Formats: sequence, structure tokens, C-alpha cells
Amino acid sequence: MGDVIHETRIGAVSPVSGEYVESVLVWADRPYSTCDRCGQPVPTVESAPAIANPLGSAMAVSQQHGCGEWLSVFWTELPGDATVEQITQAKHDLLRRYRAAIEERTEEIRAALAADLTEMLELSPDERYCTGSEVEPGIYQESGGYLKAGPWVAWAYAPVGGDAITVYEEDLGKGPAR
Ligand SMILES: [Zn+2]
Repeated sequence: MGDVIHETRIGAVSPVSGEYVESVLVWADRPYSTCDRCGQPVPTVESAPAIANPLGSAMAVSQQHGCGEWLSVFWTELPGDATVEQITQAKHDLLRRYRAAIEERTEEIRAALAADLTEMLELSPDERYCTGSEVEPGIYQESGGYLKAGPWVAWAYAPVGGDAITVYEEDLGKGPAR
């Protein structure tokens, strides 16, 4: 399951029955590392996204960022007597949603890079400019060697993990690449 799915038990003494009511909480890491609204870095690993309410069942804790954006994570509550199989199944479901969310964001980023690069290349060669470099996300022109210009490249960080998503001039118009 990797390190991205977490599990804990939460509970409370029910004022109704006087018994301890327990739930199993499973959740996934956040599938992105910057806030969609303000662009600030956000932690991908959070403590439990829910706590027990006075009746012992899960109650979401606020995931609201300082800017107002709700930085939700995927989570599921199971009854305290859930079987290992049920918990494992819930974790698999969360992992699938987590991976799908990353994949979706990666494709959105790739599409945006391709659009930006296409727009830049529509300018005449003298009008083109770099918005980034090899170390800063954005668009730049690779060196083609001594006094020669290389291809234009656009890149951005992946939703999590710090890898680069890169679109080269030659990739444009080829549909989903790599
Ligand atoms: Zn924010």
C-alpha cells in the first residue's frame, strides 16, 4: 500500500448507551502539494482528517487553507468491528482514488504546459522569451551547443514527489505523451 494510506481508530463513550463506540478511519495522503487557489505549498501528509464526535463516529476536521480553499483528502470510516478484509478493501479503494487524482492532475498540468508552449511558439522567433529555466518551472530554450539554440521546453513540478513534467517542442501535437 506504500506509505500514502493511513489507518487509525477513533471513538468515544456514547452518552446514549454508555458504551465505547469505535470507528476505523482510513485515509490517503493529499494527491497534490500546492494549494489550487493560492499556489502555496501544502503538506501532502496530514494527521487524521476526522475525529470522533461525541457519539463515537467520524467527524471531519477542518481542512481549510488560510486562503479559504478546502484541501480535502480521501478518507473512509468503517465500523470498529470491521474485518481485516474490509479494511484492506477500503485502503485499496483509497489508493486507487489517490492514484487516479494524481494522474488526472498530471494530465491537466501536461495539457497546460503544451498550451503555454504552443502559444509561445506562435510568436516570431525574436519575440519568444523564457518564463523559466532549467531550475525554475516555466518555458525556456535548451542550448543546442556552441552558439546554437536548442528546442523550446516547458516544465512544471508533478502534483507530488517533486518530479518534473516536461513538454518538448517536438512533443506538441502528438497527443498524450509519455
Ligand atoms: Zn491556499
